[in-house]
Amino acid sequence: MSPLGKLLVIGFGPGDMEHITKRALDALAESEVIIGYNTYMDLIRPLLNGQEIVRTGMTEEVSRAQEAVRQAEMGKKVAVISSGDAGVYGMAGLVYEVLMQKGWRREDGVEVEVVPGISAIQSCASLLGAPVMHDACTISLSDHLTPWETIVKRVEAAASADFVIALYNPRSGRRTRQIVETQSILLRYRDPQTPVGLVKSAYRERQQVIVTTLEDMLNHDIGMLTTVIIGNSSTMVYDGLIVTPRGYQRKYTLDASEQALKPHQRLRTEAEPWSLGAQGDRALNASQAGAAPAAPGPSASGAAAAVATQARPQAVAAVQAAPSAAQAGSAPASLAAEALSRLAAGGRLPGEANARWSGQAPAASADGAAAVAGAGAVAGTATGGFGKPALFEVGVSPGVGNKKFTARQMALLAEITGDEGELEYTPDHQIVLRVPCADPEELVGRLRDERLIVMPIGDVFKVKACDFCNMEKDDAVPVAEHLQVVLGGLQAPKETSIALNGCGMACYGAVLEDIGIVYRKGGYDLFLGGKKFGRNAHAAQPVAEGIPREQITDIVENIIAEYKEKGHPNERFHKFFKRVGVVAGFRHEDAPATVEVNAVCGD
Ligand code: SAH
Repeated sequence: MSPLGKLLVIGFGPGDMEHITKRALDALAESEVIIGYNTYMDLIRPLLNGQEIVRTGMTEEVSRAQEAVRQAEMGKKVAVISSGDAGVYGMAGLVYEVLMQKGWRREDGVEVEVVPGISAIQSCASLLGAPVMHDACTISLSDHLTPWETIVKRVEAAASADFVIALYNPRSGRRTRQIVETQSILLRYRDPQTPVGLVKSAYRERQQVIVTTLEDMLNHDIGMLTTVIIGNSSTMVYDGLIVTPRGYQRKYTLDASEQALKPHQRLRTEAEPWSLGAQGDRALNASQAGAAPAAPGPSASGAAAAVATQARPQAVAAVQAAPSAAQAGSAPASLAAEALSRLAAGGRLPGEANARWSGQAPAASADGAAAVAGAGAVAGTATGGFGKPALFEVGVSPGVGNKKFTARQMALLAEITGDEGELEYTPDHQIVLRVPCADPEELVGRLRDERLIVMPIGDVFKVKACDFCNMEKDDAVPVAEHLQVVLGGLQAPKETSIALNGCGMACYGAVLEDIGIVYRKGGYDLFLGGKKFGRNAHAAQPVAEGIPREQITDIVENIIAEYKEKGHPNERFHKFFKRVGVVAGFRHEDAPATVEVNAVCGD
């Protein structure tokens, strides 16, 4: 028997001579035969010096691996080449699989050396800035060897866990739908403005680098040689570069030479309240203080009933308050019905179909949602993983116009939050309450008993209003309250603000919101399709002036009904208005062209 040869499985990096490792160069030089896909052979041609070459087509990986094993078993030193890293969708695994089939063993079989290379996720990231930087994963969209269902599950898991994602094999001549489907899954979890990098032929002759956004990425060229890098919820763009922060800003002031935390303080748990160590300390404090953790268990059916009876007067009020809504056509009537069921159910909670993309609400809160949605009839209990109470997330405010919390309301919020939960004050004049909770309906009942407005978080309609100059200019308050009862918290294609200003000063900025209403001289002016954030922010389009009180709520309800019915998932109201052209009889007009400015952060 001839002495055994050697298999060198070599990743030669992105494709230029500068980014190939020394070991890869030496391994190529010492091999007698080089086996590889045609394009790769062309890329490494300058490195060849008389080796026997076996070129194959792209789909012939199996015969390439078999041939390599056969020649190595005949005693030759055989190089099998992959671009990037041979262990990342490359030839390394297949070579081992062919060997395993033959009963190969390390101690007496052919020697195998896998030579690592720079993979596309790294080479492409380097051209984009520093988009990877934090927890990331690679997903190949090629379903030639992997069931599409599996790929979908992985995209969903990575999207919901807020990984930076590098998509390999995003698209080919035949596989064109995969990237479209993937984008729509990602949009269910991430902001449409999430930065996305498209790098084609990194470090090769036709290199192309594009910085775009999740919603816009399909408007660019994506092909076989493109890697798509999707940012996470904190990724930003600065001067055309994509950067994902590692988290230094949590502890350091990046533009100061002197840091508030001295080196010896930086690793203490007080300096890292987000750490596992700090969580352990909090749990210990809570149990020492005698605060029993909310125990999962059957919630009293009495509590559920209390919520149902507590909710009913409001629900009835919602329908009564909209007498003309029923006459105005089927859409507002069904909105009122939806409001009725929502209130009877104790309010819908986070995590439904349009789960929020920020990753703040873990899957556990969906349990909370389910439990509360069924509260009218069933006494549900919510449990997260491993028997822990689910994290329950809900928005709380003292009123639509009223901005004043009472001391009792604050005390209740503090009591409910305890050591385990958190309260976050948001720009929407709302406090977001996040607490582990085994009995959401009881909790909602307690909040409402204290006259707090309790609202779901996520892709819902939010009704906001100024404080009506400390309730002195209060003519429009009933309209705001009516809209809150009928529309507040309804599921929306995308989070939508309906904002009301109580006088012509419009100091609350209602005209910048998705739907703005300004009360003036006894009538209501209506503004549609504002975009408050982003480089191309614009005010809403004024569509009507002086609408009488009796008509304004019906008109807004009609607009909402149309948007709910015809809006695409994740389509913001201003985009919807532009796309459909006419909403509830109001015609869209293009805003004047915006001036391009360099964003400091965000998009
Ligand atoms: N082993 C390779 C990956 C092979 S799969 C590696 O580790 O990089 C083929 C996919 O890799 C392509 O569809 C593309 O998504 C990505 N890719 C490989 N080389 C690339 C390059 N030079 N520029 C951009 N993407 C590349």
